[in-house]
Amino acid sequence: MTSPITTNPFDDDHLHEECAIFGVYDCEDAAALTALGLHALQHRGQEASGIVTFDGKLFHSQRGLGHVADIFSNEAVMRKLPGHSAIGHNRYSTTGETAERNIQPLFADFEFGGFAIGHNGNLTNALTLRKELVKRGCLFQSTTDTEVIIHLIATSTYSTVTDRMIDALRQVQGAYSLVVLTDSNLIGVRDPLGIRPLVLGKIGEKYILASETVALDIIGADFVRDVEPGEMVVIGANGLESLKPFVGADRRFCIFEYVYFARPDSKIENRSVYEARKNIGIELARESNVPADVIIPVPDSGVPAALGYAQEAKIPFELGIIRNHYVGRTFIEPTDHIRHLGVKLKHNANRAEIEGKRVILVDDSIVRGTTSIKIVEMIRAAGAKEVHMRIASPPTTHSCFYGVDTPERDKLMAARHSVEEMAKIIGVDSLAFISMDGLYRAVGEAKRDAVRPQFCDACFSGDYPITLTDQEGGANPQLSFLTEISGTR
Ligand code: SF4
Repeated sequence: MTSPITTNPFDDDHLHEECAIFGVYDCEDAAALTALGLHALQHRGQEASGIVTFDGKLFHSQRGLGHVADIFSNEAVMRKLPGHSAIGHNRYSTTGETAERNIQPLFADFEFGGFAIGHNGNLTNALTLRKELVKRGCLFQSTTDTEVIIHLIATSTYSTVTDRMIDALRQVQGAYSLVVLTDSNLIGVRDPLGIRPLVLGKIGEKYILASETVALDIIGADFVRDVEPGEMVVIGANGLESLKPFVGADRRFCIFEYVYFARPDSKIENRSVYEARKNIGIELARESNVPADVIIPVPDSGVPAALGYAQEAKIPFELGIIRNHYVGRTFIEPTDHIRHLGVKLKHNANRAEIEGKRVILVDDSIVRGTTSIKIVEMIRAAGAKEVHMRIASPPTTHSCFYGVDTPERDKLMAARHSVEEMAKIIGVDSLAFISMDGLYRAVGEAKRDAVRPQFCDACFSGDYPITLTDQEGGANPQLSFLTEISGTR
């Protein structure tokens, strides 16, 4: 007998961003622009989506499970979102049901008016703060860390909304890019280290906030600049005010955004993501090339690095694996046999480009290693003479606590095995990862500064730039939040 599944057997072996955010102030068709922006940012979260608008008197909210196009394609839904200002949010969750109460933007009615908030990132002292707030009588409506910010604002003794937000954010630790909509303002904030992205754009004279520049492109907006780490931009009737309310810290943007999370057609912190990925391939070829007949990317995320690799190594690039883009989630209980078929639903070998050849496979990362094993089996079954694997990131040895869904550390293949052991388990003739300095070179730095690293690279180095306060009890708060949200993992 079949029963609904709680895991997705056809999911890939990648870390996943948990959220995308978007905001627009005083613009015609605010809700439609927000839906388009969220659509361009769908890769940052596919589980749920929400939009809150303000029409000058009232706030309106529509939120639902599923893809943006499913929730906001319907005219009747869009008619329920009147107003000239809006914020939106896409959420990623790994499994099973996502409680509707956790879908953002979250909304609260304060004494000073309505307040809607969308958050990309993860707070590392949320559980600690939440316990204190509950003791003080706060009643939580959701299990998200973002709601902690709302209660800190509610209990702040400051009078203006911006002062209350600053007061609240000075108490939180972790990664946050936020969009906030109040009766009179659209507000964007990035945490002092700027771990997650947030960009500012303009459509005519009207301001837009978005996780990535692709969301500006889709609505014909111009890129103005990145919101700076530790900056709060307050957009209102008098234009834009920039505040720098937090103690200065060295920026530590997430380097994995360049490796995998961001869309390749985005530009983040003045770097083209596509170019960064191609450079990674070039560095990888310089560091660890082997004689081969063909370079094959693991689609789609391995493509730019494979192009760079092929260009540098002067080896032909071919699409030896074809990805089926129409694989969705399945609702049948997977048997072991079906589980085994999973990767073939998503990827198929293009035999003509593989048979009898020495193949170099290029992928962006190895997390659990499950997909790599199946891909290599598939390439060998298609007649490859040799299979070498090159990875466009250093070994992923640590979990992320800053807003990326990561397996616990003991599930990460590189945390338990040497590169040689991994090569044996995956079944390749050779395996190599880009070095940390190679990755830094690819994104424009001479090398990693060992004392003050220019990026967050904690999932490769274990060097966590923000205190993991909630970790002291030994639990993974990011995962336990998700477990509560999702039921089972
Ligand atoms: Fe990005 Fe890794 Fe740092 Fe998380 S730990 S923010 S994925 S670099």
